[in-house]
Amino acid sequence: MEIYLAHTQGFCAGVARAIDIVNRVYEKHNTPLYVFHEIVHNTLVVESFKKKGIQFVDDLSDVPDGGRVIFSAHGVSPKIIEDAQKKNLIFFDATCPLVHRVHKCASEFSKDGIDVILIGHKKHQEVIGTKGYVDPSLLHIIQGEDEVENLLIDSSKKVGYVTQTTLSLDDTKNLVQRLKARFPSLIDAKVEDVCYATQNRQNAVKELCNACDTIIICGSSNSSNSNRLRELAEKCGVESYLIDSADEIKLSMLNNKEKIGISSGASVPESVVLDVIDKIKSEFPVSEIHISESPEKQVAFPIPEI
Ligand code: SF4
Repeated sequence: MEIYLAHTQGFCAGVARAIDIVNRVYEKHNTPLYVFHEIVHNTLVVESFKKKGIQFVDDLSDVPDGGRVIFSAHGVSPKIIEDAQKKNLIFFDATCPLVHRVHKCASEFSKDGIDVILIGHKKHQEVIGTKGYVDPSLLHIIQGEDEVENLLIDSSKKVGYVTQTTLSLDDTKNLVQRLKARFPSLIDAKVEDVCYATQNRQNAVKELCNACDTIIICGSSNSSNSNRLRELAEKCGVESYLIDSADEIKLSMLNNKEKIGISSGASVPESVVLDVIDKIKSEFPVSEIHISESPEKQVAFPIPEI
């Protein structure tokens, strides 16, 4: 058996920054400390913070007035910031700067009276946060191409779009083409919304699919970018599995397979991938591990003062 490691392992810059912010706030102020929603969508990361006594809440009413709270990497709506101010909370914003960029674009469209089509998963925290930057009368959220025809927008109006940062690049491209067919003067998002980390990871999985007969994606089931990676491998015709940890590897996944590709979502600690390799090596004779260079070494976002 040979193992092929994707060249995009470890945290993306937005996740690394969010985790760093939690660590710094904890080191400086200790607990009680609250995080609004999972800081990043990874079970191991969240559990490690819980062990330190950091509490995760889905409602700000669960944070005592005047308490310390960190907003997750997925971003929050302006209403949440207002609510935090009303409760005199001391808040730290771990929203990824690339998500902030989408907020800015959505907000500018809305202020200019432009109808905003927000492409993304309706229940995902990032989409819930972004939609708060758009006047509800101008907002249209869609997930798939089949929803384009049902959009209730007068074609004579100005229409723009923004997207969630962790979507499938291919699906998004097709969806935008459908939108352009329906709204010929559609205004593009001002920047590429699907982020560099998502793009790199999807490209890496495509490369793995050329060489491998099974792909293992390390990532939690609620991680959007990890799910997209597994789906992409499947679309390329390669059997693929999403696992949260090495414990979830079953021998039946790898029996009679020769070339195993391993990749991970942007919020997965490198240790998970290393555990997966160890587990495979303990069960199968592995003759070679192919590792390629990561293109992401230089990407880092500044940390705010804590
Ligand atoms: S996946 Fe992209 S948008 Fe999300 S935290 Fe990472 S860099 Fe930011």
